[in-house]
Amino acid sequence: MREFIAGIAEIPEIREEIATVAGYLWDKGWAERNAGNLSYNVTRFYDELPDEFDFEAPVSLSHTFAHLNNQLLLVTATGSRMRDVATDIAANICLLHIIDGGKAYRQLLKPEVIKTIAPTSELPVHLAIHEKLCTENRPEKVIIHTHPNRLIAMTHIREFCSQSVINNILWSMQPETCIFIHEGLGFVPYLQTGSDALAQATLTALEKHRVVLWEKHGCLAIGENAPEAFDLIDIAEKSADIFFTCRNAGFQAEGIPLADLKKLRDSFGIAQPEE
Ligand SMILES: [Zn+2]
Repeated sequence: MREFIAGIAEIPEIREEIATVAGYLWDKGWAERNAGNLSYNVTRFYDELPDEFDFEAPVSLSHTFAHLNNQLLLVTATGSRMRDVATDIAANICLLHIIDGGKAYRQLLKPEVIKTIAPTSELPVHLAIHEKLCTENRPEKVIIHTHPNRLIAMTHIREFCSQSVINNILWSMQPETCIFIHEGLGFVPYLQTGSDALAQATLTALEKHRVVLWEKHGCLAIGENAPEAFDLIDIAEKSADIFFTCRNAGFQAEGIPLADLKKLRDSFGIAQPEE
């Protein structure tokens, strides 16, 4: 059963990359039970569909994703645990072929496969984001959603539930956040998980950001590969960690002064944030 899905065995570097990052998410404590999901547009790895592939019956999608037609996506399975993705990726990830003008998908299987697994229930959100990335010809191919503890904790404090307030805090906690997440996090006020409203708000936030923070829920990041998307969340979470470590010690973090952040941005050629 290890060769549960087709395709992934033919892209070992992607298998390794996803498994490694899934392990990081679990080790970080950001992936309780089946929390989080991951998808990877792997179309570029295939000139054409390998001959030995077999197909499941098509499954209709709730929306049409025209720009994803004939694209191939690896998506974590519904109910899958990141700790299991890390150790047995083949049994916890699906390879989907988008067909019928973007109105349906089918799973690609090898002939010996005896049962299928369903993709994450958040598939429509992942497809909507991949479609946006494709349409805009952006280089990002990976989407990671996870539950980083301290970033979520910050969104339980009303005074931080503002994009500018939370970004100014996170930037000021360490130079790396200012340099590597220079555009800041996109902040999305609380919306129900899996809802169209959350998907739409996330698409809007991704216009200007690579990391989106969902109030009282978690984070979503895009990257050219899985480690890149992970790193963005990890850097932001580190800032939140420094912030709370100071608070827990009974102090208010001083933060890097604004004048020094400005100088840092200038020296790295980063635009100053809008007021
Ligand atoms: Zn979640």
